[in-house]
Amino acid sequence: MEEYDVLIIGGGPSGTALAQYLKNEEIDTLIIEKGMPFRDKVCAGGLPVVIEKILPSNLRNFERNVYEKISIDYRSAYSISAKAEKPFLYGVMRPKFDQFLREGINVHYSEKFINYEEENNSIIVHTDKAKYSCKFLIGADGVGSLVSLQSGLGKKKRFIVAEEKEVTEKAKDKNTLNVFLGYNFLGYGWTLPKDGFVSSGSGALKGHFQKGIVNKFNRGSALIKVFPISLWDGVETLAKGRVAVVGEAGNLVDPFTAAGIYPAILSSMLLSEVIDKNLKLNSADLTHYNELLEDKLYGEFRYAHTLSSMFFPFLSLTNRAILQTRFINYLLELAQSGYLSYEKIFNRVENTKRIPVKIAFALVKIFIR
Ligand SMILES: Cc1cc2nc3c(=O)[nH]c(=O)nc-3n(C[C@H](O)[C@H](O)[C@H](O)COP(=O)(O)OP(=O)(O)OC[C@H]3O[C@@H](n4cnc5c(N)ncnc54)[C@H](O)[C@@H]3O)c2cc1C
Repeated sequence: MEEYDVLIIGGGPSGTALAQYLKNEEIDTLIIEKGMPFRDKVCAGGLPVVIEKILPSNLRNFERNVYEKISIDYRSAYSISAKAEKPFLYGVMRPKFDQFLREGINVHYSEKFINYEEENNSIIVHTDKAKYSCKFLIGADGVGSLVSLQSGLGKKKRFIVAEEKEVTEKAKDKNTLNVFLGYNFLGYGWTLPKDGFVSSGSGALKGHFQKGIVNKFNRGSALIKVFPISLWDGVETLAKGRVAVVGEAGNLVDPFTAAGIYPAILSSMLLSEVIDKNLKLNSADLTHYNELLEDKLYGEFRYAHTLSSMFFPFLSLTNRAILQTRFINYLLELAQSGYLSYEKIFNRVENTKRIPVKIAFALVKIFIR
């Protein structure tokens, strides 16, 4: 039986970033990945520019598109655009990005995690091909995480469904992010130009999603791919003893934008510190990871959660009040300085003089859980 310090289930951004951090600490790690080396994940590939600060230093030169302009459309009835002074968003092609993050780490492909059992000083992991022993088991196995299911860490609660298609065309303006509001109730759409094609899609809370909405703002015959996303819906325990979950396996997805790559990589960075300390002290308690998440991520997620409850349900009432040049410029300013600070946006919205927004705010305060 092969033995490792750390066994990671899943070779997406969270699993590979974690393996890269651990490799830098010379920690003996293996990823079990059920897919093949080439991975075509359904994803728009939008990344906040602050991603550069949290990726391991050897992985910061990834291939990207940059976006400096934003154009927002509300049901073709109202639109607004603005330009930032420097890039506020990066765009990657997921197959290339995932491949890049996988370089130089130890991955067993085409092997599926089945279950695990805890022993006194180790964890025994069963896959469809082998049996392993490890000191720590990490679930980085995404939205359908078996590690989450079996450990009870990061129970799934709130989903959106999202669709994406990649249309081969030369984009008119390759540095513009287009956002489409009001087409899908409780959701939004986008087109994100990349080199030689445009990634477009839309997503909405499960129960409100209508497949094919993407065709309303981007025609073209490309295949539409549909995938669920597990949104953050309140604090949960993501580590216990020798087991933890990272990224979407722990529902670490921004509840406003449904972006999961930044929180996936941030959670892996935080967990790598905790694993490293445990190994150095010969202990087996990953729970400090829960505290680090509270400190570095959940504050912002709480604001994002509340904002999403105000923004999407009341769009028909508030769109003209919100889509104002000054406000969009303010968002761009925040975004180009790094990760959009939801706390700052929330405070600004709370102090608005615009009546429709005030009404939405008051209703949310009454009904929010
Ligand atoms: C349409 C769409 C658009 C999106 N756009 C964006 C965006 O623009 N920006 C953004 O930040 N996020 C976006 N997301 C979300 C983002 O793709 C995910 O949140 C992100 O990929 C999560 O990373 P992860 O590593 O946690 O999980 P994943 O990327 O899902 O990786 C999980 C890995 O685990 C493997 N696995 C699963 N089960 C097993 C098993 N039993 N055994 C072995 N391996 C297993 C899978 O094969 C996979 O490789 C989008 C999602 C969708 C659906």
